[in-house]
Amino acid sequence: MNFYDKYQAEFREYDAMTRDFIDDDKIWDQLHKAANSSKTAVRKVLAKAERKVRLDPEEMAILIQNQDQGTIEEMYALANKVKREVYGDRIVFFAPLYISNKCANNCRYCGFRRENKLVERRTLTLEEIADEVKTMISEGQKRTVLVYGESPETGIDFICDSVRQVYRTKWGNGEIRRANINCAPLSRAELAKLKEVGIGTFQVFQETYHHQTYREMHPAGTIKSHYRWRLYAQDRALDAGLDDVAIGALFGLYDWRFELMGLLYHTIHLEEKYNGVGPHTISFPRIEPAIGTPFSVRPKYAVSDAEFKKIVAIMRLAVPYAGLILTAREKPEVRREVLPLGVTQIDAGTRIGVGGYRQAAGNMLPAKEQFQLGDTRSLDQVVYETCLMGNFPSFCTACYRVGRTGEDFMAVAKSSFVHNFCMPNAILTLKEYLLDFASEETRKAGDRAIQQYVDQMAEGKRKDFLRQALARLEQGERDIRV
Ligand code: SAM
Ligand code: SF4
Repeated sequence: MNFYDKYQAEFREYDAMTRDFIDDDKIWDQLHKAANSSKTAVRKVLAKAERKVRLDPEEMAILIQNQDQGTIEEMYALANKVKREVYGDRIVFFAPLYISNKCANNCRYCGFRRENKLVERRTLTLEEIADEVKTMISEGQKRTVLVYGESPETGIDFICDSVRQVYRTKWGNGEIRRANINCAPLSRAELAKLKEVGIGTFQVFQETYHHQTYREMHPAGTIKSHYRWRLYAQDRALDAGLDDVAIGALFGLYDWRFELMGLLYHTIHLEEKYNGVGPHTISFPRIEPAIGTPFSVRPKYAVSDAEFKKIVAIMRLAVPYAGLILTAREKPEVRREVLPLGVTQIDAGTRIGVGGYRQAAGNMLPAKEQFQLGDTRSLDQVVYETCLMGNFPSFCTACYRVGRTGEDFMAVAKSSFVHNFCMPNAILTLKEYLLDFASEETRKAGDRAIQQYVDQMAEGKRKDFLRQALARLEQGERDIRV
């Protein structure tokens, strides 16, 4: 069978639909209506957001269209408050692991696209995956997202083998405790196999929610050109029993205002269909120039740093219980600026070349990468800075490992659980990092932050537990969690 025919039978389900949940005209209509909203209207939306209730599209449109600097500043302050109340002062750390850059698609913006002759194509063998994972663990990583192009070589059985290999690989005291997946949309039968191997989150970015732009970016004749196959990728994952799904848009392909609305409509669709379970995380990468790829950001739709700040804050307020991921595509100065506006996860120490971790550790020439990274600092440097900024780097994977995912996780996030469990787990996993992997300077900064946190806790069982657990870690015990 021709590779492009792989899902032809399954496409019928979507081809038969007369419409999907993204109505381009309606979105523009809502955005136009919200233009010139009064400060009172903006403050009314902010008051709802303060109650940590998911916003409706009309309300999000008001925040998007607001040009008044005073209320924009109020929005930033509120986004920071909501983030701290829901998630605490912690930032979850992860690093992507690029498994294969072979791809049969031809997305105009991506360095992995089929027609790009400047990229050396590689799929890691299982042995090479183990080598990459060992290097990542030796740097202190505990969570990863595995990234794959879409090619016959990286079908579902290979993906499952690679996940097993990641979990099986150990180095010293360490291991990868959660492997998320970023790959092409899959069928329900394939997704059920992913459930069996125990992946964390299943992540697919729609790239652009705008139908016409989607067609222009993804040439016909490729699997990726099927908008609805992609749009309903998370539905199929939930149907197949996976608990955590993630969405995202690639900013710079079309108007950022429209894409934000698309992300909200996607969230609402999932919440309504799956018993209140929305996306576990939302990503909002900006396009970066890619090697051998003349198409980059469309100047008309380039997202400025000021607009990027708005995107993060509005997303935080509109969907208070979804994690927000900020990747190392962004430069350190941008990351510093937007982190307080509601980001919950960042990657650090990232290498996006296939085989890139070992190459970097061995000072070999870097592999040609998918796009240019903005933040090339080491994990240690970013942990250090995060501690100084008053946040606790967290390597926690407890919820996933005890089965608090999907619906259960949403219930957890909506309660004080985060402060009673996630914060202590953040501190304990940070302490593990400091003991096993950190530089002297980072260890001191991290220990100082931990001490301050413990000192300000009220006396009682929680404080006693944390003190004792920290002492047990110092004595060599590992993987202590609440
Ligand atoms: N092949 C799978 C797919 O397309 O969903 C997963 C891997 S793909 C490398 C992961 C994501 O990288 C894409 O969904 C896209 O949003 C992002 N990406 C592609 N080209 C990019 C670029 N030039 N700059 C930033 N992100 C890019
Ligand atoms: Fe392939 Fe994904 Fe890149 Fe498109 S974005 S060319 S599908 S790797």
